[in-house]
Amino acid sequence: MLPVVALVGRPNVGKSTLFNALTRSRDALVADLPGVTRDRHYGVCHLGERPFVVVDTGGLSGVDEGLDALTAQQVRLAIDEAQALVFVLDARDGLLPQDRSILDELRRSGKPIIAAVNKTDGLDEQAALAEFAAFGIATTLPLAAAHNRGTDQLFAALLPLL
Ligand code: GDP
Ligand code: MG
Repeated sequence: MLPVVALVGRPNVGKSTLFNALTRSRDALVADLPGVTRDRHYGVCHLGERPFVVVDTGGLSGVDEGLDALTAQQVRLAIDEAQALVFVLDARDGLLPQDRSILDELRRSGKPIIAAVNKTDGLDEQAALAEFAAFGIATTLPLAAAHNRGTDQLFAALLPLL
């Protein structure tokens, strides 16, 4: 069995774009509409000599009702089956209260968490990261998934966890 990495975070932060960058596929649904991915979506990442499975998930909105509840259930299944979690954040939105709720949920799993601060293109990377330092996640990396930037560093940070 290949190790599994789950991509989790609010809708629209760039999880599916990151999934595509890691798996080099166009399979995940990328859209400007938040919450397009309603279930889990698997791909294999071959960035190095050690392949692993990447799971794209629908966003956790922090609202556990209706479709959101179904999506949240799928996200929890993805967290359960993962060896490591990539918590995708949006540098343009900054740190939102929903991010804190999601982090609480991720921490309850006891799994290792890497924070990937996405959409840093055109921003000061260090300033973008500084805002998320409040989370106290030891490994917090800048990312611009849409431009394939930061994926090698993310891969390097994941390897020892798998
Ligand atoms: P998801 O809901 O978390 O899966 O987010 P998506 O991958 O569908 O992306 C949501 C939006 O953010 C889309 O319009 C993407 O083009 C955009 N996006 C994703 N990654 C980046 C990035 O690195 N930089 C910028 N500027 N936009 C991005
Ligand atoms: Mg998506």
